[in-house]
Amino acid sequence: MSQTRADVAVVGGGILGLAHAYHAAKAGKRVVLFERSPRAMGASIRNFGMVWPMGQPAGKMHQMAMTSRRHWLDVIAAAKLPHYPTGSLHVVYREDEATVAQEFAALAPAQGFDVTWLNAAQVLERSPAVVPEGLLGGLWSPTEVVVDPRVTLWTLPSFLSEQLGVTLRYNTAVTSIDLPRVTAGGETWEVDTVYVCGGDDFQTLYPAVFAESGITRCKLQMLRTAAQPNQWQLGPSLAAGLTLRFYSSFGMCPSLPQLKARIAAETPEYDQWGIHVLVSQTAAGEITLGDTHEYGLAVDIFDKPELDDLVLRYLATFARFPDQTITQRWHGVYAKHPDQPYCRFAPAPGVQVVTAPGGSGMTLSFGLAAETLSL
Ligand SMILES: Cc1cc2nc3c(=O)[nH]c(=O)nc-3n(C[C@H](O)[C@H](O)[C@H](O)COP(=O)(O)OP(=O)(O)OC[C@H]3O[C@@H](n4cnc5c(N)ncnc54)[C@H](O)[C@@H]3O)c2cc1C
Repeated sequence: MSQTRADVAVVGGGILGLAHAYHAAKAGKRVVLFERSPRAMGASIRNFGMVWPMGQPAGKMHQMAMTSRRHWLDVIAAAKLPHYPTGSLHVVYREDEATVAQEFAALAPAQGFDVTWLNAAQVLERSPAVVPEGLLGGLWSPTEVVVDPRVTLWTLPSFLSEQLGVTLRYNTAVTSIDLPRVTAGGETWEVDTVYVCGGDDFQTLYPAVFAESGITRCKLQMLRTAAQPNQWQLGPSLAAGLTLRFYSSFGMCPSLPQLKARIAAETPEYDQWGIHVLVSQTAAGEITLGDTHEYGLAVDIFDKPELDDLVLRYLATFARFPDQTITQRWHGVYAKHPDQPYCRFAPAPGVQVVTAPGGSGMTLSFGLAAETLSL
């Protein structure tokens, strides 16, 4: 068994692990990153790639998202990652949705959000995908950025290795942490600090901590279209009325309870399965669509085609693309705490477990890691 030495060990090659490795290496630390799979296969590669500050509640979390976005733009430039800095549009077709969106446009700028209400004609000028029939208008925000999760998760490790000197150990599960020793694969490393970013695997390394954490899992079903022809561009990422009841940022809107009540009464199936519909584009031009939310530690391994149908039925009310053919379907799972926006535990001196950013891990990653390292 070989003996090796680093300042920092990172467990997990998802976006939280990569972000912690990035900041630690930029701070001059010698970093080793362990990922148990040959390449990342967890939540980070299965997502929309949306860096979405718009969804974070005003205050600390929105600020963390904006800090994260700033780091993302640095990383994107340095690692030459494909991305769409195209902002977002929340489009609305019902009066109660328009009321909530307009309330947000009135209240949120004072809380640091860069948002504007657009009328229907202005929305259509910004997006070739939005359905014009019945459109009342939309919320425009320039801050949202989309990266391609596959390209990012598979190429950022090489950047960390080649440009920042991070040692990569893929196909290598960490099986024991007893500082200064970290055991992984056939190696024992000596390190000062460990960041455990193991995603929804929260029982292997610290079972007692996680048994008491209250963290659960959330399963999401996703779809992707064929690459759009002739380099057709989506423009801003899209969301619609259902999303207004999903992100806690909209909690500042006085009319939100009435909107939620109307949706619950009219379409309870969308509440039952936690469905709202987001639309983003990949580097290859495909359109990523989702999502649904099923909570519980025991994740159903079988997908439910009827939930995909509900997503597509709602999508048809607000967006269409030149090629609507669905070519990929998958599900992803993330760890989530019922009350906390993320969790950080210190199960032993020198060890920090950072996990459960829920549906916002891509958005928060670099800001959350900066906070872990007190940057
Ligand atoms: C379908 C879907 C869509 C989403 N869309 C978005 C979005 O658009 N925007 C957004 O902000 N967030 C989104 N999210 C949330 C976001 O993807 C997650 O919050 C984030 O990816 C969590 O990152 P992570 O690094 O903690 O976990 P993961 O990406 O799951 O990575 C954890 C890694 O740790 C490894 N690991 C675990 N244990 C060990 C061990 N002992 N040794 C070595 N390796 C280990 C695993 O193999 C895994 O690769 C979405 C999530 C899903 C599932």
